[in-house]
Amino acid sequence: MTAQLIDGKAIAAAIHEEVRVAAAELKAKHGITPGLATVLVGDNPASHSYVKGKRQACAEDGLESFPNELPADTPQADVIALVKRLGEDPKVHGILVQLPLPGHINEEAVLNAVPITKDVDGFHPVNIGKLGMKNREPSFEPCTPAGVIELLDRIGAKIEGASAVVLGRSNIVGLPVSLLLLGRNATVTVCHSRTKDIAAVVRQADILVAAIGKAKFVKAEWVKPGAVVIDVGVNSLPVLNPDGTQAISEKTGKPRTKLVGDCDFEAVKEVASAITPVPGGVGPMTIAMLMKNTLRAAQQSVK
Ligand code: NAP
Repeated sequence: MTAQLIDGKAIAAAIHEEVRVAAAELKAKHGITPGLATVLVGDNPASHSYVKGKRQACAEDGLESFPNELPADTPQADVIALVKRLGEDPKVHGILVQLPLPGHINEEAVLNAVPITKDVDGFHPVNIGKLGMKNREPSFEPCTPAGVIELLDRIGAKIEGASAVVLGRSNIVGLPVSLLLLGRNATVTVCHSRTKDIAAVVRQADILVAAIGKAKFVKAEWVKPGAVVIDVGVNSLPVLNPDGTQAISEKTGKPRTKLVGDCDFEAVKEVASAITPVPGGVGPMTIAMLMKNTLRAAQQSVK
């Protein structure tokens, strides 16, 4: 069997279009433009590039963005004061604090300062707590985990009653994905670095979510025939020449690399019924879900 390729780019594009239409409607009916404030502390190039991508998506989807950039040595109290000011600004419907923060700043203290009604990243401890409780609804679900569920829903995967295995238990992916799957009545097993015989656990999965950050970790022999595989991992591997030496880019003169997921994609796709590619699977969903959450925050502000 060759698996159905889950096209995250196309699904994300459909979500962006839905957000664009709904944002225009909100503006026409209530004169409100959904607004996302970004808070970036320091000069981490990857963080700058992520924030740039989020602001670009806002512009394309008809949302307003309010950038806030602070030097790396900003005292924690000043970052918290800024987040609180944004919390009181009626034009700001969502606040995104780009992580990681510099080492001297306590991440939890800053995230705690985001009002839960503006926590569009879904990382406020209260929102994460509600995610894990029965009959409680968080104001927002974290974007990458929510993107995983959205992919499963949009391909029509049956979550209720399924045996779901999640590889990884991080605060930003593994744990919240597990809670979301549990909330959708899957039977969930979470694996981590101390799990014994991961292959045997993975073999039980109707739905497998891999989020550990280890290139090609999941082998085809571990995967139950017909399983749906969502690969969250993003890993960089060197591109080799036919003689096994490192390939060098003619354009930049730098070593060539390629992105791969946590699953051995070429082999696993012959066993699974559906699988996300890396890149182009879960990756594009994160920003799409952030736009959706920001729209929702603005819609809720009307109510
Ligand atoms: P993380 O914080 O490093 O967590 C990794 C998790 O994997 C931990 O729970 C760890 O277990 C577990 N783990 C590590 N090695 C393992 C092994 N050999 N066997 C079993 N479990 C193992 O990583 P993360 O932030 O969750 O990210 C995971 C991957 O997703 C990364 O490749 C990251 O780049 C990618 N990612 C993608 C997106 C996106 O596409 N939008 C967003 C976020 C992350 P312990 O808890 O026991 O240490």
